[in-house]
Amino acid sequence: MMGHTEEVVNAMEKVSTMSELVPITVARGDGIGPEIMDATLRVLQAAGARIAPEFIEIGEQQYLAGHSSGIAPQAWDSLRRTRVFLKGPITTPQGGGYKSLNVTIRKTLGLYANVRPCVSYAPFVRTLHPKMNLVIVRENEEDLYAGIEHRQTDEVFQCLKLITRPGCEKIVRYAFEYARRHGRRKVTCMTKDNIMKMTDGLFHRVFDEIASDYPEIETEHLIIDIGAARLATRPERFDVIVTPNLYGDILSDIAAELTGSVGLAPSANIGDHVAMFEAIHGSAPDIAGKGIANPSGLLLAAVLMLVHIGQPAVAETIHNAWLRTIEDGVHTAELHGTLSIGRPFGSMDFADAVIERL
Ligand code: NAD
Repeated sequence: MMGHTEEVVNAMEKVSTMSELVPITVARGDGIGPEIMDATLRVLQAAGARIAPEFIEIGEQQYLAGHSSGIAPQAWDSLRRTRVFLKGPITTPQGGGYKSLNVTIRKTLGLYANVRPCVSYAPFVRTLHPKMNLVIVRENEEDLYAGIEHRQTDEVFQCLKLITRPGCEKIVRYAFEYARRHGRRKVTCMTKDNIMKMTDGLFHRVFDEIASDYPEIETEHLIIDIGAARLATRPERFDVIVTPNLYGDILSDIAAELTGSVGLAPSANIGDHVAMFEAIHGSAPDIAGKGIANPSGLLLAAVLMLVHIGQPAVAETIHNAWLRTIEDGVHTAELHGTLSIGRPFGSMDFADAVIERL
């Protein structure tokens, strides 16, 4: 029997007679990954996205198959060929086991900027912060996430915090250029340079240097602890936030949750040659296999992908349909409440509701 993914691919190939398709690499991932990827591809197909997905396998099954990096060597060929990656979340064991494939992919493909817009959809999605509309630009290759850890003794372990001037310059410049391109007025830098004077100190110094090239953009620096506190209580005061890798990872989950759910936020991982698009959340093993996960984060990541590959009209059509769906009270379980219609929608029913509004 033909699986849903195959049906989608066949249908997308039929569209190829009408216009040229852009090859993209797709990985369905672990946990809720296959459910939200199927829902997302269904919407892309219905909206007429001109893409030709090449499927690769990554994550848990690949580790079990003996690929210690979690990805088969031939999968890299697809990524290097298409240079566009739509990725489902993958499971990484905590406190031991194999190294994070997410980190490996970001470093191998040089995806230095992780762009995470977090926007409120009030009054249609319940949030305490209806005016919130910010973008976190997270450095994506360095910091404690470089994955350089070692054992000194049985009781002492070390993790190297790696911050380089070229890395800081690239991400800070990206954040300012992003702000300029998108008409955003302020860039906030968050570091802990009162304690990590050399590493975070360098990040802050480079921020101040590059800021002078963008006189029209307001700038500020906050120490990460008070920055995180302000984000939690007054997120509407932020516009673009640029920050080292680990802080950015934590801040973006907080920011997405403040908008209503981690299930809402997309991310674009940008490099000089390749770009990867995914939801910010993980594989959610607690709800995997139930068909109830919110596909919005991945769908909105696919919208960013369509803009990236030069299909802004389809991107806009999907985004508008998605907004109408949310505004009509069509909500998945984790958003469900007094603003919702009927019973909570499952992932696929939600996708169908978006399609009805295309
Ligand atoms: P998680 O983001 O998977 O889940 C956190 C909570 O949010 C859970 O209660 C989950 O049910 C809920 N949630 C997440 N996405 C949702 C959605 N789309 N709809 C509705 N509810 C949703 O975080 P976790 O539980 O800490 O991590 C699980 C696994 O995911 C770990 O192995 C972790 O390493 C991995 N992870 C992967 C990525 C990635 O692939 N980019 C990112 C983060 C975490």
